[in-house]
Amino acid sequence: MDIHSWLSQAAESVQRWQSEYPPFDTHPALLVSDERFAAAFGELADRMRGNYPYFHPSYAGQMLKPPHPAAVAGYLAAMLVNPNNHALDGGRVTSELEKEVVAQLAGMFGLATHLGHLTSSGTIANLEALYVARELHPNLGIAYSAEAHYTHARMCGVLGTPGTAVSTDAAGRIDLDALDSLLAGGSIGTVVATAGTTGLGAIDPVHDVLAVARRHGVRVHVDAAYGGFFTLLAGAQGRAGLDPRPWRAIAGCDSVVVDPHKHGLQPYGCGAVLFADPGVGRFYSHDSPYTYFTSDELHLGEISLECSRAGAAAAALWLTFRLLPPEPDGLGQVLAACRLAALDWSELLTQAGRLRPYQQPELDIVTYYPATAGGRLTAIDQASARILADGMNDARRPVFVSTLIVEAQAFARRHPDITVDQDRARILRSVLMKPESANYVAELHARIEELAGWPV
Ligand SMILES: *Cc1c(COP(=O)(O)O)cnc(C)c1O
Repeated sequence: MDIHSWLSQAAESVQRWQSEYPPFDTHPALLVSDERFAAAFGELADRMRGNYPYFHPSYAGQMLKPPHPAAVAGYLAAMLVNPNNHALDGGRVTSELEKEVVAQLAGMFGLATHLGHLTSSGTIANLEALYVARELHPNLGIAYSAEAHYTHARMCGVLGTPGTAVSTDAAGRIDLDALDSLLAGGSIGTVVATAGTTGLGAIDPVHDVLAVARRHGVRVHVDAAYGGFFTLLAGAQGRAGLDPRPWRAIAGCDSVVVDPHKHGLQPYGCGAVLFADPGVGRFYSHDSPYTYFTSDELHLGEISLECSRAGAAAAALWLTFRLLPPEPDGLGQVLAACRLAALDWSELLTQAGRLRPYQQPELDIVTYYPATAGGRLTAIDQASARILADGMNDARRPVFVSTLIVEAQAFARRHPDITVDQDRARILRSVLMKPESANYVAELHARIEELAGWPV
């Protein structure tokens, strides 16, 4: 797997295609000498060294990792042409590629029918799902759990639709009793279930949410921006297998969002929204006097809120799916390794040491806290922040984790023995979204254990 050779193949293929057209001279205003390029690029390369090493298994902080080399090659080949998937005129080939990958995503979730497209992010994908929710029920609100992504509340504000947060249970999942009584009030038109929360990686019981919602005639949108590809592990044999019920239930919901730029090995700029009812396309209808000339076929801009969008994002995902298809034996193996890494670390955390598990991981996010802090929330909070800082500032053997703010009540529900002496506390959180983490958890655990023992 030689990324240099793959990137050359991508650039050469575009040059070959371009050379089939009559030659012309580049305008002098665009010309830059190789020397000036080298100097400027050297400056950029220097500044890029300031990044944390997202590629390395010692980075287990946020949901970050480089794209797969196939995605980079696919992106480069298309980006050198720079198609725009808004209209078929601007994205003749990449619009077709987009429709194909969207159909693959729909197949992955088991949707019998679908209308969907890629977006520039999960936030925009969710905005579209909430927009359709508002159009269908203009006088009703939208509900989501208190652990749902913060953008749901914000986008409800953008849409001018009341948003209601529903409390969560002791595992960070939406509380079904609270949801049931809220929906009984008749003020909610759509409920958002999160299949993999961003903080804890908790999976709302989509099947139960769906049953409660349907009883009240309420729609269901699934935010699987982070967790969606884990559906490839639903019902799988072995330790990595997941309870299939929430994942299978997605096929019966009204819409779903997944971020290929999180667990689909893609560069940023690739979210996706899928609707089960293709009829919702009517809410996007608009007239554009300067596009949609060349074809009566569907232009993706006719079913999306965004206008310009990178055709390269579709090409990158298409090429990736050709090589690592969204199936249990393809991309599923990558997800399995990430989940096993989280389970392995969680097991190490249950052994007596300086760290304690906050809760059992459901996907590939591990949450834990320093037990050295004597069980007081103030001390746990400070020790967590110190470990985060000491880990990344250690020039010799840096290690990168993140912190998560949890409410005192939520902490005490899981660990009744702690002393609540402030309202909330930071705990430690690690996202193991690189499959290489599977061979690195012992090292990560040993390193954080060591840091937890450092004097304050
Ligand atoms: C990341 C995430 C989002 C937001 O997606 P972006 O691609 O970062 O805009 C929404 N919901 C969940 C559950 C997420 O994890």
